[in-house]
Amino acid sequence: MTFLQLDKTHKQIQKAVSDFIKGEFKKEILEEIIEQYSFPEDIWKKACELGLIGMHYPEKYSGQGLGIFENVLVAQSLCRGDSSVGGCLVMAGHGAELILRQGSPELKQAWLPKIAQGQILSSTAFTEPGIGNDLDMCCTTAKKENDHYIINGTKTFAMNAGPLAGFYLVLCRTDQAAPSDKAFSIILVQADCDGITCTDVGAKLGRRLMDISQVQFDQVKVPLRNLIGQENKGMAILDDFFNETRVIAAAQALGMAQGAFDRALAHVKQREQFGQKIVDFQITRQKIADMATKIEAAKLMTYQAAWQLENIKKPGLKTGAMAKLFAARAAFEVCDEAIQMFGGYGYMQEYEVERFYRDVKMVDLFDGSKVMQKDIIAAELIKGKGI
Ligand SMILES: Cc1cc2nc3c(=O)[nH]c(=O)nc-3n(C[C@H](O)[C@H](O)[C@H](O)COP(=O)(O)OP(=O)(O)OC[C@H]3O[C@@H](n4cnc5c(N)ncnc54)[C@H](O)[C@@H]3O)c2cc1C
Repeated sequence: MTFLQLDKTHKQIQKAVSDFIKGEFKKEILEEIIEQYSFPEDIWKKACELGLIGMHYPEKYSGQGLGIFENVLVAQSLCRGDSSVGGCLVMAGHGAELILRQGSPELKQAWLPKIAQGQILSSTAFTEPGIGNDLDMCCTTAKKENDHYIINGTKTFAMNAGPLAGFYLVLCRTDQAAPSDKAFSIILVQADCDGITCTDVGAKLGRRLMDISQVQFDQVKVPLRNLIGQENKGMAILDDFFNETRVIAAAQALGMAQGAFDRALAHVKQREQFGQKIVDFQITRQKIADMATKIEAAKLMTYQAAWQLENIKKPGLKTGAMAKLFAARAAFEVCDEAIQMFGGYGYMQEYEVERFYRDVKMVDLFDGSKVMQKDIIAAELIKGKGI
């Protein structure tokens, strides 16, 4: 691939997702799902049949053998189609990159096909009620006993943690005495293990179709073979993981911004006030230009971050952090402006942009808040890894 130029495969992927959206994201079906706050199970299964979930897994694990860039294109297009349903599909395998990049061949074989085939959802359990951005203070423990770990602790905000979860990827302290870079491990815990209690975190601003839960681990017995990567290297593994998922988060924000923009543009082209189409007012044209410019900049940053992850040996953390930071902000502003362009209708559920606005806010918060992204960017710049 030439840098930032979509090739034939990329265009085919975009067309496949666009056809899927036309066929499956029917307004009346989506309205029902949204009304009931239910996970879009049928659409998810169909997305899996089409190979849209886990397309970056190798074919032997039921993926398409494609890369991060292709995954970004899918995430962007699905979220452009619908912020809530698209968001659920994109996050169906959230966390499974830990297995893909660091898991043993046995773990890959056991779990990746199940995600790609739509049998289970993947869930990460890093955050704790008292531990958010400062994950290196995490209290959940995994103690070795013969050929098992015994896990104790409470995690919160775990996406997909509910009846469809197949496993939790749990950040645990495995060395009580070591400094944080040598103290933590990530362990795969099968969701149906004894000792796990899952409690919904309650009503949410957005992403309402998704289960987000507190997960309690009480003397949960897990085989040692469920360790992801090396023991006590959990923090380094998480750094690499977030570097990839930040780009997917940016792609979601980008898609949602485009979706809100599409809807607002269509509205102002047909809505008349003061005897003329709203689109013909100069101020509306200025807004359109500003929104499109933000979207384009977010797109370039997101694509560049994805491209770097695949094509540069040591891509660093800065570009992905910048992409997530910028795309999340740009998308939030675009969604806000989209509501404004709809006027009072923008506030109404029927016109969808209010949902895009609520759903996109999550990108600012999860996988490291915007303050943390700025910290990462500044740290690399200060170390001399310039722009
Ligand atoms: C919708 C949603 C889905 C999520 N999904 C998951 C998931 O699947 N798995 C999972 O493990 N977690 C998940 N999370 C948790 C998410 O990653 C955390 O909310 C996030 O890491 C922030 O942690 P916190 O909420 O405890 O905020 P805190 O860490 O308490 O931070 C609160 C505020 O203080 C700021 N702050 C914190 N530290 C500093 C500092 N040093 N300097 C300046 N400001 C600071 C933060 O930027 C933030 O603005 C999810 C969260 C949401 C909202």
